[in-house]
Amino acid sequence: MHCGRRSKINGALGRSSAITRTSSLRRHCYERLGLVMATRWFHPAIDGEIKFNGMLLTHDVDSVYADRAFRGRQDQSDNPHFNFARWRELESRFGIKSAFYFFSPAPTQQYWLPTPGYLVTEEPVMQAAQKLAEKGWEIAPHELGHRTADEVAAEVAYFEQVTGHKPLGTRNHYLTNWPDSLKYKAAAGLLYDSTWYAEQTDTAFLCGTVLPYAPLDTATGRPLDIWEFGFVIEDGIVTGCYGAGTERGTKEAIADGTRGLDIIIAGSGYACFNWHQRTFARQTELQQAPDTWVSILEGLLEYYQAHAPRWWNPLPGELARFWSRRQAVEVESRAGEIVVRNTADDDCTDLVLALHGEAARAIPGAENVPGRGVSCIAAGLAADEEKTIRLDR
Ligand SMILES: [Zn+2]
Repeated sequence: MHCGRRSKINGALGRSSAITRTSSLRRHCYERLGLVMATRWFHPAIDGEIKFNGMLLTHDVDSVYADRAFRGRQDQSDNPHFNFARWRELESRFGIKSAFYFFSPAPTQQYWLPTPGYLVTEEPVMQAAQKLAEKGWEIAPHELGHRTADEVAAEVAYFEQVTGHKPLGTRNHYLTNWPDSLKYKAAAGLLYDSTWYAEQTDTAFLCGTVLPYAPLDTATGRPLDIWEFGFVIEDGIVTGCYGAGTERGTKEAIADGTRGLDIIIAGSGYACFNWHQRTFARQTELQQAPDTWVSILEGLLEYYQAHAPRWWNPLPGELARFWSRRQAVEVESRAGEIVVRNTADDDCTDLVLALHGEAARAIPGAENVPGRGVSCIAAGLAADEEKTIRLDR
């Protein structure tokens, strides 16, 4: 994604209002029937602790050479756009890990951007990508293809061929989609996409949700086999750089991002930060002040970690796998009990149930989620397992 392109989109902040309204209606129905409404909670239980919030960090790798002179050199230590080690150090300080999206166009295809400023196959870039993967970071394509199934499939296959790592998801470089782009990504074996937001001048949620979801196939109207992560807080958006005269300094940029984080935390949802890899070299305050865009991210991470109770930090691919595991579980409320069934061949040992309403607070073992009107209870299941949770133990 490029900074400087202007966008006419200036959407208002969205909430998961449809989900909230539907939940409220369903809750009344269950109460009338004298049953406790139970749904799959949005977060897992990890090491015995039920999580209430989640955050992802991602980096679009648009540029790795501050100057053409750096291309072809093995030593990149004085290159201000080559920040992979700096990111690892910063994230370790915050106790988090992230995903990096690299340009890896398949040579067999003609992409709309014929000559990116670097390729993942260039030696210093490949070494940096391999080191990230070795140390537990996620690497994936910064997708250029979106127009045909072949160009998307070739890009995904090529990324695996050259890096040795099967990518789990992607973000399109130009945030571009055609009606069937997501179908192509799902067919190429990707589990998630994080492209559905736009270059705009204020943080907003264009998809109206702070949770992963499956977009509908434009031809059949049925959910696609891929999760969309549209809840992105982006460096260029919080700094207001996609508009004319809308640029923000560090403090104002943090305030814009914080507004988005408050909505995400209120909805027990997920934040997906996108900070471009090069931004250690990008100055704030209209390029005048000593702060870089990374100072803004640090401010937002500090805010998030202080205000989001019990957050977890999955890699995006890990979140996609959790969401699929969770999706395979059926929940049924009966008198005095909840029956959960894992319909998949995979274990779902980290599943948590949300029990709705005041009555749920009294259920032994259930933990109240502050401000949400739900109490959570761990309900892990092995593959194909069915379990009954008694509510009056
Ligand atoms: Zn990009």
